Amino acid sequence: MEQSVFKFDKWFKGNLHCHSTVSDGRLEPRSVAELYKRSGWNFLAFTDHEMYTDREEYNDDHFIILPGIEIAMEECGHIDKCHHAVGIHRSFDGEQGSRHMERFRHGADFQGSLNQLMDADYMAIYCHPVWSRAHFQDLAELDGFFAMEIYNNACELESRTGLAVAYWDFLLRKGRRVWGVASDDAHHILTDRCGGWVMVNAPSLTRADITKALYEGRFYSSTGPQIYAFGIRGDKCIVQCSPVESIHFISYERRGRSYHAHVGREISSAVHTLHGDETFVRVECVDRYGRTAWSNPIFLEK
Ligand SMILES: [Zn+2]
Ligand SMILES: [Zn+2]
Repeated sequence: MEQSVFKFDKWFKGNLHCHSTVSDGRLEPRSVAELYKRSGWNFLAFTDHEMYTDREEYNDDHFIILPGIEIAMEECGHIDKCHHAVGIHRSFDGEQGSRHMERFRHGADFQGSLNQLMDADYMAIYCHPVWSRAHFQDLAELDGFFAMEIYNNACELESRTGLAVAYWDFLLRKGRRVWGVASDDAHHILTDRCGGWVMVNAPSLTRADITKALYEGRFYSSTGPQIYAFGIRGDKCIVQCSPVESIHFISYERRGRSYHAHVGREISSAVHTLHGDETFVRVECVDRYGRTAWSNPIFLEK
């Protein structure tokens, strides 16, 4: 078996979740875009609350805006419990901007709201489940999101509620094909910018190519390290990355394995032999500061 998730040489760095003065962010949209552009980001989705915005005028050869929105619904009778999702307008298989909503009107329940996003050509990402006090089963019962936030930088800084890989593995073990996204959710109230991002492997920096690559899972997420290659050859799962302390292969139901550098040293590749009956395998590369890169899973056919 040969399976590699990365097909192109080109990588584009982006943030899929941020706010501006259009909703509860501190900075004007133009300042937000300038900060990301100056920090070396190639794309940015504005996802203001219940408000669709496009800032096409900020696009240049090295930086594009993906139009988006964030929707939120409280769960009545539960302290702090809610559901949030960002919708990124998909630009492939259809006409960009042909259908979108200026101001979002919710469905009867959160599933209804997700359905509305899908009907309007948005790709939904379920956000910050730990911060939202969602239960694992809530995510299993919701449908219509192609990815979920496994790391949300603002939530992590606000109340250590950003990391949600346990929810992700819960869905993956149920056979759901959901990608994992790291994002900032920057409001620029905390120092929440440029802490979590996705690296997208796409042929070019266009809305169509980036949204298609996201949809197909051709990206990894990171708070620091880089993943250069991740794939399967025969019964071996192989990863190459920037120098890190530990590389973890995570698989179900069969356990994966962790590989660690000797004390004071670093590793930049690892090979793990699969048993053959894993349903999926993914990798986490963790550097000496605890910063992590998360691959998307490779699903293993039976
Ligand atoms: Zn949110
Ligand atoms: Zn948000």
